[in-house]
Amino acid sequence: MPADHYEVLGIARDADAAEVKRAYRRLARESHPDANHGDSGAEVRFKAVSAAYEVLSDPERRARYDRFGHEGAGAARPGDPFGGFGDIFETFFGGGFGAGGRRRAGPTPGEDLETVLELDFEEAVFGCEREITVRTAVACTACEATGASAGSSVGRCETCQGAGQVQRVRQSLLGQVVSSSICPTCSGRGETISDPCTSCRGEGRLVEERALTVHVRAGVDEGTTLRLSGRGAVGPRGGPAGDLYVHVRVADHAVFERHGYDLVHRLSLPVTQAALGTTIDFQTLDSTEVLEIPRGTRTGEVFRMRGRGVPHLEGRGRGDLLVEVVVDTPTDLDGEGEALLRQFAETRGEPVAPPGEGMFSRLRSAFR
Ligand SMILES: [Zn+2]
Ligand SMILES: [Zn+2]
Repeated sequence: MPADHYEVLGIARDADAAEVKRAYRRLARESHPDANHGDSGAEVRFKAVSAAYEVLSDPERRARYDRFGHEGAGAARPGDPFGGFGDIFETFFGGGFGAGGRRRAGPTPGEDLETVLELDFEEAVFGCEREITVRTAVACTACEATGASAGSSVGRCETCQGAGQVQRVRQSLLGQVVSSSICPTCSGRGETISDPCTSCRGEGRLVEERALTVHVRAGVDEGTTLRLSGRGAVGPRGGPAGDLYVHVRVADHAVFERHGYDLVHRLSLPVTQAALGTTIDFQTLDSTEVLEIPRGTRTGEVFRMRGRGVPHLEGRGRGDLLVEVVVDTPTDLDGEGEALLRQFAETRGEPVAPPGEGMFSRLRSAFR
């Protein structure tokens, strides 16, 4: 529950506008982060003071706050029960100052883990199952994740009475300020163990290499991150497991390039086939398709094979396969081929270099 705005400003509920303003000015000055270097508590106090003033200085919001509490005083953010200040107040009153965050009594959750999964091109396109190994924390079997040796007794922590955190109540410049921090005796567990497990030194978990099977859905791409809920490290002493994030890397393909859900292939086509047309048995990733190349095909023309691309990650259907033609000039002409080509040039009246080591080929080799 967020703090009471009146308590934060240290004023009575019937304080008038001038009193609200006075209290705010004084507290804001005292708790301003610029005046409290390195005191993370001051920053939190400052935010609480600002939040309180924002509501109580606005007659309409103050009236709603008086009537409905924090739920009524929200700013222009419907659906946010704390009017945008929920996280601040939770940090302030629920979690202790500084790096604590939202620690509560009870089992501490385990850490989230990350790993990289390298896939072949086809594995990413069509999906696959892959075994991976992660270094993670697993429950200690010797103590059944309790952290206590056999015969050891687990008792309630005296320091925090089992709450896992200790609270300090101070009459400070903010009126009554309650701050919590993790109990130093039990480290937030709320209980103490008389004789900790020797395998895990009382942690209730051990670090181990663990094999996992990852189901990769068809259509994933480089940069996809898979979240495996509950497959991260288990928490200490029976705490719930964190998540495992798997970052996908995809190897290049020798023939195809991926553009989203489409595949692109650059087809090198001899000048004769480009000029006269041909039929090609084209090998896609998972089928053989008949590709008709019409007469007079030029470099840069694209033929689209619908549905021969990458399956859509969400929903049905697949992308397309695009075949882009690059007309290939023969570079290995033998005597007969050259003779035919010269004859062809002559019939079209296209002047060409004389046979043998012509000027152009000498120039070309000079520039290589
Ligand atoms: Zn153990
Ligand atoms: Zn304790």
